[in-house]
Amino acid sequence: MRFIDEAEVRSLLDVGALIAAMRQAMIDFSAGKVQQPVRRMLAQHGGFFGIMPASGEAMGIKLVTYYPDNARHDLPAHMALIALFRPETGEPLAVMDGTYITEVRTAAVSAAATDLLAPADAKVLAILGTGVQGRAHLEVLPHVRRFEEVRVWNRTAARAERFAEEHGARAMSAEAAVRDADVVVTATGAKSPILQGAWLKPGAHVNAVGSPRPDWRELDDQVMGNVVIVDSYEGARTESGDVILSGCDVYAELGEVLAGTKPSRAEETTVFKSLGMAIEDVASARLVYEAALAKGSL
Ligand code: NDP
Repeated sequence: MRFIDEAEVRSLLDVGALIAAMRQAMIDFSAGKVQQPVRRMLAQHGGFFGIMPASGEAMGIKLVTYYPDNARHDLPAHMALIALFRPETGEPLAVMDGTYITEVRTAAVSAAATDLLAPADAKVLAILGTGVQGRAHLEVLPHVRRFEEVRVWNRTAARAERFAEEHGARAMSAEAAVRDADVVVTATGAKSPILQGAWLKPGAHVNAVGSPRPDWRELDDQVMGNVVIVDSYEGARTESGDVILSGCDVYAELGEVLAGTKPSRAEETTVFKSLGMAIEDVASARLVYEAALAKGSL
C-alpha cells in the first residue's frame, strides 16, 4: 500500500468526473445506502480535529484538522489524511493526502447543487470569502454554468483585491456583489451573518459552505427563509448555526432533489447549506485510487 501525496492527488482528480461522483454520493447518502455517523470534532488550541468515517460504495475515513487562524503560521486552515479500504473484504487500499480533496470536493458538491438549482442562464457569480474555498468555487462552478461576471468580497479587502486581480474578478462590498447575482457562494469562517436575504435576487441560488459550527452564522434569518436544502438533515441540525439558530424549515437533502424524490423548486430562491460529509471524501479518494490504478502507478 502506497501513500499518495497532494501533488499526485491533484494530478489524478478530474473535476468533471468528480462532480458526477459527488452527485451519485449525495443520491446514495439520501437513499440510505451509506453508513456515516455525524463527525466527531475534538477541540484544542483554537482548532478542531475531525474524525469522519463512511461506508457505502466506497469505504474509508478522513482525519481532518480545522485551525481557522492557521494563516498566521503560513498553513492552510484545513489539512487532512484519508484512508481507503475495499468494502467487500476490508483490505486497506491506500492512504492519501486529503487536503486538496477537502478543497475540491466541497466545490464539486456545490457545482452539483448549482447545476440543479441555479437559473439555466446564470451569468453573474458572487463569492463572499476569498480563501481556499472561494478559489475552489471560482475554479469548479464554471463547469456547470457560463458566468460572464465574477464579483468578490472579503473581510480583509486587500485579499479580495489580490484575488480579483489574479482571477479576472471584481472586488466590491458584499451587498454590491450580491445584488443581481444569479449564484452566490458564502465561504467564510464568519461568526455572524455576512449575507443578508434582502440583497438576494428572486430565483438566485446560494451555496453556503462556511461557518460549520452550531454557534457560527454566515446567513441571516431572511436568507434561511428561502428554500433550504442541506447535505444531511442530521449533520445540519447538529453542526450548522445557520440552520439551528434561525429555526428554519429545512426543505430537503441535496440527494433527494438530485434523485427527483423531492421537486427541486429551482424557480424559487434556493439555499444549499453544506457542512461536508465523509462519503464525499471517501468517494473522491476512490476516484483517485482508480485513476492511479488505471495509470499503473500503484
Ligand atoms: P480559509 O482560511 O482559506 O479562508 C477563510 C475565509 O473566511 C477568508 O476569506 C476569511 O477572510 C474569512 N473569514 C474568517 N473569519 C471571518 C469573519 N469572522 N467574518 C468574515 N469573514 C471571515 O478557509 P477555507 O476557505 O478553507 O474555508 C472557508 C469556510 O468553509 C470555513 O468555515 C470552513 O470550515 C468551510 N469549509 C466547509 C466545507 C464543507 O464541506 N462545507 C469544506 C471545507 C471548508 P480574511 O481573508 O479576512 O481572513
